[in-house]
Amino acid sequence: MGVGAADLRRWVGAFADTVVANEQLLTSLDSAIGDADHGGNMARGMKAVVAKLDADPPATPAALLKQVGMTLISTVGGASGPLYGTFFLRMAQSVGDADELDTAGVGAALRAGVAGVVARGKAEAGDKTMYDALAPAVDAYDAALGGGELAEALRAAADAAATGRDATTPLQARKGRASYLGERSVGHQDPGATSATFLIETAAATLPAP
Ligand code: ADP
Ligand code: MG
Repeated sequence: MGVGAADLRRWVGAFADTVVANEQLLTSLDSAIGDADHGGNMARGMKAVVAKLDADPPATPAALLKQVGMTLISTVGGASGPLYGTFFLRMAQSVGDADELDTAGVGAALRAGVAGVVARGKAEAGDKTMYDALAPAVDAYDAALGGGELAEALRAAADAAATGRDATTPLQARKGRASYLGERSVGHQDPGATSATFLIETAAATLPAP
């Protein structure tokens, strides 16, 4: 059983719910090293995404992922809107006209999404951004793929994302607003790495067939 549009819709819905439930957490993390809008940005964007998907449900994986990406880019003003938007648009390109993705296809789409974040934001490992959660997640996914199971690969990805998120705390930011703080950015968990971990954790919770 592959991953189809209904499965992706479940993932996006769970990510939206998690972002909304953790809006205060994301905002307080961003208040320490940014401008205290990451929770609001992500909650506003994901509420708009869900409203759009409900009003006009896309039939295919690519159409759904594209709709998510376009809505995030058009509704989120901060750095995270275009970055997450590009993530979903690149996933859409990766899946092409497939009606269902197999385990390798999900991995390829996630990797394409992360490449989009890099193309847009030029983050490197250790810059203290969402990339520090996303990059280890796709690496762990691919490493677990040998086992063949989607659930197992996504579980490994989610664990790696959380480890990468936690590892942003001692880092000094080199990208985005937090980089303006220089050494004062040390000692705080990155907000974008935190929301990106929700993204991968909700994929692990929802994409494998229930
Ligand atoms: P803004 O920084 O415009 O206020 P947000 O607060 O919504 O936007 O998002 C901040 C998050 O965006 C940061 O915690 C970081 O993870 C991520 N981010 C910022 N710049 C970049 C970048 N160039 N590449 C990857 N991620 C980035
Ligand atoms: Mg901010």
